[in-house]
Amino acid sequence: MPSNQSYNPVTAKKVALSLLKRFYGYDSFYPMQWNAIECALQGRDCVVLMPTGGGKSLCYQMPSLMLDGCSIVVSPLLSLMKDQVDALQAMGIPAAAINSMQSDDENRSIMDAVFARKIKLLYISPERLLADMGQWSKDMLISFIAIDEAHCISQWGHDFRPEYTKLSLLKARFPNVPVMALTATADKITRGDISTQLGLHDPQVFISSFDRPNLSLNVLSNYTSKRKLSKIVDIIDSHHGDSGIIYCLSRKSTENVAESLRRLGYNAACYHAGLSSNTREEVQRKFLNDEIPIIVATIAFGMGINKSNIRWVIHYNMPKNMESYYQEIGRAGRDGAEADTYMFYSYADVITLTSFIAESGQKLINNEKLQRMEEYAESTVCRRRILLSYFNERFDHDCGNCDVCKNPPKRFNGTEFAQMALSAIVRCGEQVGMNMVVDILRGSRRADIAAKGYDKIKTFGVGRGSTFRQWTSYMLQFLQMGLIEIAYDDGNHLRVSDYGREVLRGKPVMLTEPEEPTAAKKKAKGGEKSAKPHRAQPTLFEKLRSTRASIASRLGVPAYVIFSDKTLQEMASLMPVTKGEFLEVQGVGEIKAERYWLEFAAVIKEYKRNLIV
Ligand code: ADP
Ligand code: ZN
Repeated sequence: MPSNQSYNPVTAKKVALSLLKRFYGYDSFYPMQWNAIECALQGRDCVVLMPTGGGKSLCYQMPSLMLDGCSIVVSPLLSLMKDQVDALQAMGIPAAAINSMQSDDENRSIMDAVFARKIKLLYISPERLLADMGQWSKDMLISFIAIDEAHCISQWGHDFRPEYTKLSLLKARFPNVPVMALTATADKITRGDISTQLGLHDPQVFISSFDRPNLSLNVLSNYTSKRKLSKIVDIIDSHHGDSGIIYCLSRKSTENVAESLRRLGYNAACYHAGLSSNTREEVQRKFLNDEIPIIVATIAFGMGINKSNIRWVIHYNMPKNMESYYQEIGRAGRDGAEADTYMFYSYADVITLTSFIAESGQKLINNEKLQRMEEYAESTVCRRRILLSYFNERFDHDCGNCDVCKNPPKRFNGTEFAQMALSAIVRCGEQVGMNMVVDILRGSRRADIAAKGYDKIKTFGVGRGSTFRQWTSYMLQFLQMGLIEIAYDDGNHLRVSDYGREVLRGKPVMLTEPEEPTAAKKKAKGGEKSAKPHRAQPTLFEKLRSTRASIASRLGVPAYVIFSDKTLQEMASLMPVTKGEFLEVQGVGEIKAERYWLEFAAVIKEYKRNLIV
């Protein structure tokens, strides 16, 4: 292990940068990566807080490459371990995992390789580590320990794993070995818990920004199920065969949505906790390998998925809080290339979520969190500002990559509309729900309206000039502004608040118009066979992507382990043909260049030839 005296920052960084280029094919570090690496090289403990896609793996992999001996990486899930080991081996870095899926013989031979100093990084589960720790002789040189997904140690977090709490024993057993704890949790209480629970010695804490600028943020208010489906189809089509996830609140809707998409010819599968573990594993494996591009899932899907080329995430319903939302959209675009996220938001979601909360403990806190989520959905200022300020991060400019920035809402004086709606509610004795009010305002001939005599009230039909869609949007805004409230304990009927009464007496309110619906697209029945594009000429990126897919299936690894989407995009624009040119592309290290350049170069040469003709 290096002592502080022998550490030379200038040489260390030079060495690190040359290893970065050689193995990973990158020219520079992401923010905070070098700080964390240097801390480990100096023999100190640290905590690394970085968002998903922030580049945590490199923070612990680089010290492992630079220090003598073997580094241990504690990881909670087999799938994560396998993924990382595949990725390291693909770059030519000797890595292995010890786990219960492998035979004792396999595990033993891996340990032999470790003792023979042939392995630089050993991935292991916490229980296995704790069980085997005592047997490890002193001469097995452990230079460094990384604890991945370190939030699993906190009882406050959502992924609490009891085995993690025993990891504090590591510091007692290996007091001089530096430990790095890493997590993408944005939750403050959990963050605080990590270093205390692990018993780290005076750890440095590195926090990088939790902004994910490559993720576009979009909220779609007020869609009926039918329009939701047509919007989803548009999104999928605009992504030409890319992988994506649709999150739903209930198992039933995951099944329905997946079924509808399959009927339209898309290759989509559903995933929820009610399926057998075999089915779930198979769906997950096919998604990782790009065999099924679309997954419709409950929030049970995602933990343990390292897939870096998820290009879009759709929330079919509004999530219950900002933490879940951030985590779920965060699964897209880990490779740093552009990715799109969409969240549908409706009044029905608010009612469903409120009823979930009523059944849960911690009602007060959960309601508060739901409220913040609604504020985000209703925001008329840059959404990224709201998202980051929720996580206490300063962000003092508009992002330019959210729907509000791209399409600022137009505001108008909506006092008259508010008065029509509020007066209708009052005249119906506050015994009507949202849709009923809208139907009354639009003069609907619904039987129950006439039966209750609501067609006789003064405001019946006064709102005919606006569409149902406009009215539901206005109503949602009234709710958000606090003009009306929902009586959850009384059939979800609407009540006029004190503020609403002031508006009835003349206090002005401003409204925004709902976004124009896109023309519903007609799809020929049984038309498309997969979520693949139907264009005459596939782009170079698409050709490179299929080359990548065939290499990946030949080697039995996920496609993104060969090259990330970002690397393929760069290849498609630089069009390298010589090995030297390939090495210039970010993400092409020496081993990968050697192994794959001929195959990709052939595709690029062919493409160039056709360009000239
Ligand atoms: P995290 O574990 O924090 O979610 P990863 O370690 O998986 O993030 O890294 C996310 C992506 O960023 C990967 O595709 C990785 O290869 C890439 N990456 C990491 N560090 C760098 C860097 N310094 N330069 C370019 N790309 C990087
Ligand atoms: Zn914005």
